[in-house]
Amino acid sequence: MKMKMHKCKKCNIYTIQDKCPKCGGNLNVIYPPKYSIEDKYGKYRRKLKEESKMEVKHAKK
Ligand SMILES: [Zn+2]
Repeated sequence: MKMKMHKCKKCNIYTIQDKCPKCGGNLNVIYPPKYSIEDKYGKYRRKLKEESKMEVKHAKK
């Protein structure tokens, strides 16, 4: 299922409708973030952290 979110700049509200339920004005389309990509970066960041920790340990010796 594909969900398209809209946001009304005027009312500052989010809706899945084509028009703002409050003022009936135009809406900006909001694309949901891709969590899979963020998770990939998170794993990469965690790996970097572990490696930098090891480097610190090594430097102390
Ligand atoms: Zn509105």
